[in-house]
Amino acid sequence: MILAGNEQIKSLTAAMISKGREPHSLIITGEHGQGRKTAAKYIAAAMLCESGTGVPCESCRTCRMIKDGVHPDFMVLKANDNGNYPVDDIRAVVADAVVAPNEGRVKVYLIPDFDKSKVTGEQVQNILLKLIEEPPDHVVMILTADSREAFLQTILSRTVCLGVSPCSKEECISYIGSLEKYEYSDIAQAVDSLGGNIGSCIDFLEKGLIYNAVSKARQVAAALLSGSEYELLKALTECDGAKGLLRMTLVQLCLIIRDSAVSSFGGELIGCASHTSQELSRKYGRARSEKLYRIISEHIARLDRSCSKLLVINSLCAELSAI
Ligand SMILES: [Zn+2]
Repeated sequence: MILAGNEQIKSLTAAMISKGREPHSLIITGEHGQGRKTAAKYIAAAMLCESGTGVPCESCRTCRMIKDGVHPDFMVLKANDNGNYPVDDIRAVVADAVVAPNEGRVKVYLIPDFDKSKVTGEQVQNILLKLIEEPPDHVVMILTADSREAFLQTILSRTVCLGVSPCSKEECISYIGSLEKYEYSDIAQAVDSLGGNIGSCIDFLEKGLIYNAVSKARQVAAALLSGSEYELLKALTECDGAKGLLRMTLVQLCLIIRDSAVSSFGGELIGCASHTSQELSRKYGRARSEKLYRIISEHIARLDRSCSKLLVINSLCAELSAI
């Protein structure tokens, strides 16, 4: 199980396992695409690997089965389409946890993307609480989310929290290159647009949602630069397509605008349109760029509060044009 970068997680995992101090509950936090699930798989493999060294050997039967998602003692729960976990599935985990492992010395349950479980999140944690408070010796529970805020204090106080960190651009290129699936020039373009977020870069290379979001964000940024309210409205309206596209486009747009604010004093550019960012910086200057950034962030928050996409687009267009 290859986990790119994240040396701290690797060394901590090895130390905990070699000293026989494995936690029964872990929370892994980090931005989407930064490898939360991969880190969880790495830790499961480290705990179950036949080498017993605390570092997955990647070649034993157990490591290969975990990598392929078929190990009977590593269970990954799936949320339904809107990101929530059916409470019956969680009750089934609690019931299953008392049964001894099938092959390994521990059973690892992974419940990923907890931040998306807005409706059942709290209920699920309350069902899991007893298991997390008094886990059988053979049970390890791993939960992941974008931040610790997704969890109740009672859960946080009984778990070890680990944060995944973004890889360097070099680590990202080297990892994606090792998959032997993409052209080097395409990988370089993805990393140049999205930095060291491996998940986002792979989604970009697969021409997934993020690929479209990057392209739309560049269009919106170009419309801002042109100063045409019509072009701006047109570019924003075109984002109202696939589920999640508008939000992801605005997140990418935020990074472009953030770059326009920092480029005036030579800050590092992290967005997907560095040339446009510099031109926007010349047009708007730092203070107005910061205002644009605030406006876009506020509209992302409105989308998160389930405001109508059409209303968000109209309001955003009007406010951006007024700057
Ligand atoms: Zn192994």
